[in-house]
Amino acid sequence: MTDTQETPSDFIRDIVREDFASGRLQADQEQGQTLVTRFPPEPNGYLHIGHAKAICLNFGLVQEFGGRCHLRFDDTNPSKEEQEYADAIMNDVRWLGFDWGEHLYHASDYFEQLYLWGEHLIESGDAYIDEQTYEVMRSQRGSLTEPGTDSPHRDRPREESLDLFRRMRAGDFPDGAMVLRARIDMSSPNLNLRDPVLYRIQHKDHPRTGSAWCIYPMYDFAHGQSDAIEGISHSLCTLEFENHRPLYDWFLEKLPVPAKPRQIEFSRLNLSYTITSKRKLASLLEHGVVDGWDDPRMPTIAGMRRRGVTPQSIRTLCKTVGITKTEGIVDHALFDAIQREELNESAHRRMAVLRPLKVVVENWPEGKVEMVEAQNHPGRPELGTREVPFSGELWIEQDDFRVEAPRKYFRLKPGQEVRFRYGYYLTCTGYETNEAGEVTLVRCTYDPESRGGNTADERRVKGTIHWVDAQSSVPAEVRLYDHLFQQPDPSAGDDLMAAVNPNSLETVTAQLEPALAEEAVPGAVAVQFERNGYFCPDTTSSAGAAIFNRIVALRDSWAKFEKNMAGGATSA
Ligand code: ATP
Ligand code: MG
Repeated sequence: MTDTQETPSDFIRDIVREDFASGRLQADQEQGQTLVTRFPPEPNGYLHIGHAKAICLNFGLVQEFGGRCHLRFDDTNPSKEEQEYADAIMNDVRWLGFDWGEHLYHASDYFEQLYLWGEHLIESGDAYIDEQTYEVMRSQRGSLTEPGTDSPHRDRPREESLDLFRRMRAGDFPDGAMVLRARIDMSSPNLNLRDPVLYRIQHKDHPRTGSAWCIYPMYDFAHGQSDAIEGISHSLCTLEFENHRPLYDWFLEKLPVPAKPRQIEFSRLNLSYTITSKRKLASLLEHGVVDGWDDPRMPTIAGMRRRGVTPQSIRTLCKTVGITKTEGIVDHALFDAIQREELNESAHRRMAVLRPLKVVVENWPEGKVEMVEAQNHPGRPELGTREVPFSGELWIEQDDFRVEAPRKYFRLKPGQEVRFRYGYYLTCTGYETNEAGEVTLVRCTYDPESRGGNTADERRVKGTIHWVDAQSSVPAEVRLYDHLFQQPDPSAGDDLMAAVNPNSLETVTAQLEPALAEEAVPGAVAVQFERNGYFCPDTTSSAGAAIFNRIVALRDSWAKFEKNMAGGATSA
């Protein structure tokens, strides 16, 4: 599926359609409630591929049906949140191709209103101040099979709770001295309804409200009411909040809120061989497994961007996976396939030699450099051609030469003739080794009649390899990535660090054809290194010290390439 294709329908889109049909939703704001969604990240880390699903859903719905989508920072916990994260989140949402326009909000904008609603619940007898410790409250919570125990403060006079709540706000008490709790039902089968905590004391400055507050609302008390304040019509969240919905609705019922948003849950996006939890991603940083939130191995939006992944392939993945209530792990191979499909279409082909080995062409005229023509995209002639220098000294990949090779090895070996793509046919006449027995140089002769490398010839030359001219090639560092984890479901075990793949990054030296020197600038579009995959310059790259990241390898690259070449096809 490509980006231009329509998003398939799903149960949430069906609900939205029904809401328009029943008149609950109006296209025009003058007529009533319009479609209003929101993406509500907590600014305590960078966004990851899972968030992309929520972003595509919320922003995608209003692109499709009209209305607006808010970006709201759920910044109710000052101890974990930072401006760096908020900035990164905005940058990432925009990069994914979405825009909240003027609708940027913060839960902290509503602290005063939320506080007043706390007083409201005390006054209506629906909340009380509990002075027990967290440990005691936890021990009274009961379990799925046993009811909880009422707090001794549950029935204290409203005036007393109100006074304490006001003094909590005024800063009269230390952290942990007391909390505001909803007064619902300690024997509810839903544990979230067993008198949940609404406010806690936290003497900590907030990035936005500074020292104005020393009490902060809990997520559940802030979220639904923030939705209501903003006139959200559909509050879309992941399945772990399904059990919170009765509480979400309880607040909307008890409080004089200006709107009644509807919470709908969908399943999270999980991708095999990686993790989608900010907390766990942060632990990879803490353990030095990766070099930052934007490490190209990270499933963060920032990491994928640096790796060279396009916003389009992320959107296509989200579209392909779709919106359901079924939990599961999406095979990373699907994402790879989507990327290959997109990059195969768009990426220009280039020759780059990884782990280079020198080839000397013995019968090449001294000092001569010939320009040969290479196609930028075998499947799309309109993308044109370029000239690539060919001379008597070339680089090939170490893997493309073997001293002793099986009969079916069609690349270079002593006595064998091989087609150098776009160049000439070369026959290996000898090689040199160092003291360790490693091959340091390969000697060949060339056939001057075979220029272009595509001579329709009676000879059975089965192998085709790529190469670069040693005089003009550009040295580079190339980073080859593997999965960050060894297991498809790294979160399944209890030791995340033990699941880390120690070989997720391999750095190799390379020699690039000259055209790539100019293309080795950060932000340049991806190219295909023939036979090696799709690559993109790293953000730390600069012309002269080129660094390329492999975005994704070609599918069983070598076998397929060789088969095509043997059959005379030109596509890799
Ligand atoms: P994390 O566990 O990574 O911290 P979170 O849910 O705590 O994730 P938030 O910043 O609160 O992170 O998430 C913002 C929104 O993104 C929420 O509406 C949440 O449901 C959604 N979201 C988070 N992770 C995923 C995921 N893996 N798939 C789909 N949506 C997700
Ligand atoms: Mg969260």
